[in-house]
Amino acid sequence: MIKENLASVRENIVRAAKNRPAAFGPDVTLVAVTKNHTVEEMREAIDAGATIIGENRVQEAMQKKALLERNVKWHLIGHLQTNKVKHAVTLFDMIESVDSEKLACAINKEAEKIGKIQDVLVQVNLVKEESKTGVYLEDLDPLLKAVDQMEHLNLRGLMFIAPNLEAEKVRPLFEKMRALFERTQKSCLPNSKIELLSMGMTHDYEIAITAGANVVRVGTAIFGPRQY
Ligand SMILES: *Cc1c(COP(=O)(O)O)cnc(C)c1O
Repeated sequence: MIKENLASVRENIVRAAKNRPAAFGPDVTLVAVTKNHTVEEMREAIDAGATIIGENRVQEAMQKKALLERNVKWHLIGHLQTNKVKHAVTLFDMIESVDSEKLACAINKEAEKIGKIQDVLVQVNLVKEESKTGVYLEDLDPLLKAVDQMEHLNLRGLMFIAPNLEAEKVRPLFEKMRALFERTQKSCLPNSKIELLSMGMTHDYEIAITAGANVVRVGTAIFGPRQY
């Protein structure tokens, strides 16, 4: 099932990418979100071609990485507490959820210790959902400037988790994020190449792609519902 699901998600991604302005480019990267799924299921997805794994908890990722004898990239997509930064920096190729200067600083420090340049995205809380993490719009520019200056961080773009709304209500939010992303690309961040906009999950990834996402994070559509 996982193999077939992955294939159809891929087809949907390609189709959605064709249905958007050429200026957004044809490329969309798929992060296969494996939280609460087994290492066995992860192997199945990787053997069917998944190359990037998304996990939202450091502890869970650590346990799985020890068991998964596969060469893949790991993205942290969940909130990161400062006491877990050390492990996160050794585990993850990309941390998508940077949302404060304090956290950025802690990541920078741990990355320096192990001689790593850590790829990061800044997560934006566009509509100030209190239940969600992410930096508020009014604090975004100072955070981007700070991250840009940190020597062991490589700022690659923005990440967004849409509120759980029906399609036509989330589209304007994705469009807003795309505008914000393009503005960020043009802003003065001398040490950063802003090229990634990570948004869209199972119920909204096609909408996100047509609005300009170039990274989508999909779990349920590939692995089925999660058991908690
Ligand atoms: C769980 C999760 C996803 C994937 O959600 P699905 O609805 O299962 O596709 C994507 N992004 C983040 C940040 C998540 O926590």
